[in-house]
Amino acid sequence: MSFVLNEKIRNLTPYSPVEGEYAVRLDANESYFSLSEEILSEVKEAIGKVDFNRYPDPFASELCEAFSKFYGIDKNFVTAGNGSDELISVIMNAFLQKGDKVMTVTPDFSMYAFYASLAEAQCIDFFKTNLEFSVDNVIKEAKEQKIRVLIFSNPCNPTSLGVKREDMKRLISSLDCLVVLDEAYMDFWDESLINEAEKYDNLLILRTCSKAFGLAAMRLGFAVANKTITDVIRSVKSPYNVNSLSQAAGTVVLKHADYLKECTDSIKKSRDDLYKMITALSEKYKGKIKPVAPVTNFVYTEFEKAEELFEFLKTKGIAVRKMGTHLRISAGSEEENRAVCEGIDLFYKS
Ligand SMILES: *Cc1c(COP(=O)(O)O)cnc(C)c1O
Repeated sequence: MSFVLNEKIRNLTPYSPVEGEYAVRLDANESYFSLSEEILSEVKEAIGKVDFNRYPDPFASELCEAFSKFYGIDKNFVTAGNGSDELISVIMNAFLQKGDKVMTVTPDFSMYAFYASLAEAQCIDFFKTNLEFSVDNVIKEAKEQKIRVLIFSNPCNPTSLGVKREDMKRLISSLDCLVVLDEAYMDFWDESLINEAEKYDNLLILRTCSKAFGLAAMRLGFAVANKTITDVIRSVKSPYNVNSLSQAAGTVVLKHADYLKECTDSIKKSRDDLYKMITALSEKYKGKIKPVAPVTNFVYTEFEKAEELFEFLKTKGIAVRKMGTHLRISAGSEEENRAVCEGIDLFYKS
């Protein structure tokens, strides 16, 4: 007898982020802030009160309430997930049946197509031109192809560009497929539709605490949608998807709105500084470095010899993310931004 893996899983490999130890980590778009001492001690106190022998609250009520208050929305339209990553998987499995068409755009976050293929959906790729898509062309293509789910990030990881609110509204109301709008980086921009999610029958917004709020370790993501869609997500997710420690920690942190806004502002400033520094390098090394003006917490840049530069930076203890001819560099502390720019300078000098 012999066991044979089925086709959809046969060629998978485990997700592995940049391997090795690096002094400067600008590869995963995490926040460079850890929690303040004050908030950390509140988190410890809240975790001390957790009943470790009991299952978590399946609806993470307090956490969802804190999230809703922070964004000024109704908590009945919010579902918490074990990172928005889990929610993407849940959404693909629930809203698609085998063979249904899901549309992704390229380049974008790779997990969409991955979870879509595990759900045995047919993945249709819409290719961007000059890193952006025309809303009208996406509408046309989605209609022609009879797409069931359209999913993309706004602002986009990796391009760092965004689609404005009015265009987004037109896109959503022109389509009768489910539009999953991943707003993982929207805390760094101001074109969110989170306050209007319940007005649409086909909109599902994803948010995360991993980027602007510095809680990547906690794995906290949120889905925001009307009552019907919210009921579906709550019904299909695994009952205890968000553990009690993450619920407790997230609730504390989300109540510190001023602190979170301060951190977000600092990260935006760091992003602007990093973009300016890379732009200065692009003027020094004409034609070799082409940065994109970002609305996220990272800078996406086309580099001549991106692969060699990526390897060179690693030898200097600096991790960034390589994506073909581009590098995606997360905004870091002043020292980290300086270190990566010095590394780039050194690479092109020699
Ligand atoms: C980082 C990222 C996520 C993942 O968020 P988690 O909540 O940490 O799972 C989702 N979408 C995009 C586009 C991201 O870049």
